[in-house]
Amino acid sequence: MNQAPIGILGGTFDPVHNGHLRLAQEALEQCNLAAIHFIPSGTPPHRNAPHASAIQRLDMIRLALQGNAAFVLDEREIYRIDPCYTVDTLTALRAEHGMQQPLCLLMGGDAFLLLHSWHEWKSLFELSHIVVMQRVGHPLGNTINGANDALRDEYRTRLAPSPRILCDSPAGAILVADMPALEISATDIRKRCAEKKNIHYLLPDVVADYIQLHHLYT
Ligand code: ATP
Repeated sequence: MNQAPIGILGGTFDPVHNGHLRLAQEALEQCNLAAIHFIPSGTPPHRNAPHASAIQRLDMIRLALQGNAAFVLDEREIYRIDPCYTVDTLTALRAEHGMQQPLCLLMGGDAFLLLHSWHEWKSLFELSHIVVMQRVGHPLGNTINGANDALRDEYRTRLAPSPRILCDSPAGAILVADMPALEISATDIRKRCAEKKNIHYLLPDVVADYIQLHHLYT
């Protein structure tokens, strides 16, 4: 088997910002992905309800992804009001793309360190690879020692030495890739909006303009 993997980036995207977009671009290039599906969450089990509406979050992602054929918006979760788990989304994607297609669940190091709290988290490895984008200055190798024991064991067993493994099997590996540290978060962007501060250059101009036009996060 040697098939370009499909990347999956879930998140609240409230709003989508350059940290998400750079994470996706680095993963696309470093892991030779065929495409990346951005999957905004509906009512996330771990988090409070988003501030912007589902339609507004979709609009902002559409604007951010426009012109990039490799970045795809996937709306399957956003209108769900019941807790919608990543394991269910991956199961659906696996059914659509077949058993041989490599899938790569993308996430930042901060999200990976909480993976053991996700619903049926060990099943994720049967459905997908996991690509952890570690930010320069925040190496996962340092923090994994203090992580949950079961998570650390999975990490050590599944760690892949190179991205080539992602094309050779459909699921089961953990790959750690580097990305520049962009200290951008949706929380910080919302706070800046509430304080009437400028948010340009933290996210695409079209998204910043949309936020201003619709008076979001004020
Ligand atoms: P919030 O501040 O509302 O918690 P967020 O900015 O962390 O939101 P999410 O939608 O929760 O954004 O993130 C989705 C994914 O993107 C997660 O895997 C997270 O680790 C990753 N991510 C978010 N911001 C960055 C960033 N600046 N650099 C790299 N990865 C990021």
